[in-house]
Amino acid sequence: MSIENQLLKWYLINKRDLPWRQNKDPYSVWISEIILQQTRISQGTQYYNNFMKRFPNIEKLSISKESEVLKVWQGLGYYNRAINLHKTSKEIFNNLKGIFPSRYEDLIKLKGIGDYTASAISSICFDEYNPVVDGNVLRFLARYYGIRDPIDSKKTQNRVKEIGKKLIDKTDSPGDFNQAMMEFGALICTPFPDCNSCVLSSKCEALNKNEVEKLPVKLRKKKIKERFLHYIVLIDTKNNTIVEKRFEKDIWFKLNQFPLIETNFKVDDIMRVSSFKKFINSQKITIKSNKYSRYNVKHILSHQILHITFHKFKTEKAISSGVKLSQLSHYNFPVPINNFINKKLF
Ligand code: SF4
Repeated sequence: MSIENQLLKWYLINKRDLPWRQNKDPYSVWISEIILQQTRISQGTQYYNNFMKRFPNIEKLSISKESEVLKVWQGLGYYNRAINLHKTSKEIFNNLKGIFPSRYEDLIKLKGIGDYTASAISSICFDEYNPVVDGNVLRFLARYYGIRDPIDSKKTQNRVKEIGKKLIDKTDSPGDFNQAMMEFGALICTPFPDCNSCVLSSKCEALNKNEVEKLPVKLRKKKIKERFLHYIVLIDTKNNTIVEKRFEKDIWFKLNQFPLIETNFKVDDIMRVSSFKKFINSQKITIKSNKYSRYNVKHILSHQILHITFHKFKTEKAISSGVKLSQLSHYNFPVPINNFINKKLF
């Protein structure tokens, strides 16, 4: 039997029963594909269910506020995904009469939709013959065809896409075939594959040449950056504090935070740091240095290690335009700040 038929047969028997597979609605496929980028399926399913409950269709999403979308996304990370979902829902609802584009060429013009998502939506929902190439597919096809070039190079990704195109063109069901390849990479040809139970083992190049552990090859090692973030939690006599919004295009874009001072190194005494002194002067307040405490937490992201310190000060006078501590739950904070607030560490 050909590889494409074996994959399809395997998929129809073994596919997981996931909520977005209940129908071919492009809205739900789109939401699930965006959520599942960089996210494990168990966590992603929970977020998907919450998202669909809150924004069940494109209209509801498009008329919501961005802050509401970010609230539902809270804790999932890569917040640009949520911002782009929201922008694109407005574009579809307001400028495309609420009709989801069906063609790859039209989908890829939308904000936040790249080759992978456009291929997934156009094939699963509209039967277009566009192969998907995600990390699972790259790993699986690199092993099966014995591709020794690095899979993080554009050239290899294009080569894998060409292979995918030849395979998908031989099927009657491009959507199922794409899902079969992704599911096979996610469940069988995993980073630690179970080759003994693989239905494709007899023709697998990597297995036959004893190279399963060597493939796929990756060129670049992920660089991990260490950062030192100091959040200044000022609490005035009326239990107000300062909350600001992150505007720069960094992690947690558009989320809220306490005033932040970032240093390039570990700091023992924040009161000696010049940017801290400048900040306090700019606020025209006096802090009670004998009412100071701090709380440290390490937060690990996929590409950054964050050494976070919350510096808590009581102030002598009221903070102008402060936010009540009891109102903090209405704001969108990143996970480590949210944990700090929920543990009532201020
Ligand atoms: S035999 Fe092993 S390496 Fe080859 S496709 Fe199957 S699971 Fe992947």
